[in-house]
Amino acid sequence: MLINKYDLHTHTKCSDGSLSVTQLIDLAIDRGVTHLAITDHDTVNAHLQLAQMNGSYKEDEINIIKGIELSSQWNNMGIHIVGLNIDINSIAIKNAVAHQTQLRLQRVKTIAKKLTHRGFPDITEGAMRLAGDSQIGRPHIAQYMVDEGMVSTVAQAFTKYLGAGKVGDVSNIWPDLELVVKWINEAGGVAVLAHPSRYKMTRTKGRRLMADFCDAGGQAIEVCAGNQVPGVAEEMAAICNEFNFHASVGSDFHNPDYKWVRLGQYPKLPKACTPVWELF
Ligand code: AMP
Ligand code: MN
Ligand code: MN
Ligand code: MN
Repeated sequence: MLINKYDLHTHTKCSDGSLSVTQLIDLAIDRGVTHLAITDHDTVNAHLQLAQMNGSYKEDEINIIKGIELSSQWNNMGIHIVGLNIDINSIAIKNAVAHQTQLRLQRVKTIAKKLTHRGFPDITEGAMRLAGDSQIGRPHIAQYMVDEGMVSTVAQAFTKYLGAGKVGDVSNIWPDLELVVKWINEAGGVAVLAHPSRYKMTRTKGRRLMADFCDAGGQAIEVCAGNQVPGVAEEMAAICNEFNFHASVGSDFHNPDYKWVRLGQYPKLPKACTPVWELF
C-alpha cells in the first residue's frame, strides 16, 4: 500500500531555491513524497513552467499542489502566508504576483540605499544580476555581499544586515496580512500561516496574530515545519484546537546543501490535528 507523504512548503529557482522545478519534483519522488506543494516566494512561475510541459511532469508518480508563499506585514513585522491549492490563472493571483514583484524590485533599491549609508557600494545591479529571472529576495542580496567580500557568509549577511530588525529588514512595504489572505481566498486557495514559531514575538502577541489571521479568513497554520524544535508541533496543535485551524506540514526546502532542512522532513503531525489537505 502506498503511504501518502506530504510536503506542502517548498521552493525552486523561481524564487530563492537552488533546484529547477523538475529537479525538485525528481528529488521529491526520490524521497517518497506523494503530495508536493511548490510555494515559491511571490511567484507561480514554477507552476507556469510545468503547465507548459505538455500537461505536466511525472504526474503519474506524484501529485503537485499549486501554491505560493506571499509576503505580508502585520504590526510592522514581515509575516509569510502560504496559499495552497490556488488557481494560478485567477485575477487575484495575477494581481498579487504583479504587485509583489514590483515591491520586491523597489525593496532591493531601498535595502541597497540603506546599506550605502553603512559604507557599502550600491548592491542593486549586482543582486539583480544574480537573481536573473528569479523573484528577487534577500538571499540574492546576501549572496552578492558574500561574492563581493562584504561579509563572509550568507548567514552573516542576515545576522548583521538583512535579518529581522536589522537595517536591511524592510517589512513595512508589504501588503497587510488581511489583504494577502483575501487574495488567496479569492484564488480559491487555503491560506496557511507559515512557520509560526519562527517569528520573534511574545506568546501574547503570537495569539493576537493567530486571532487576526483567523478573522481575516486564514484557515490553517503550519503545525510541522522543517528544522522545528521539539514541542512546537504540540503547541501549534493546541492553537489549531482553539481557533479551529486545519494543520499544514512542510519542510520549507530551499537547497539540498542545507543539511538542516531535507525535503519531506518535519516533525510528526500530532494526532489531534485535522490535516489541511481535507480542504483541497
Ligand atoms: P525575502 O523573501 O526576500 O524577504 O527573504 C527571506 C528569505 O531569506 C527566507 O525565505 C529564507 O529563505 C532566507 N533567510 C531568512 N533568514 C535567513 C538566515 N538567517 N540565513 C539564511 N537565509 C535566511
Ligand atoms: Mn526563502
Ligand atoms: Mn517563509
Ligand atoms: Mn518558504
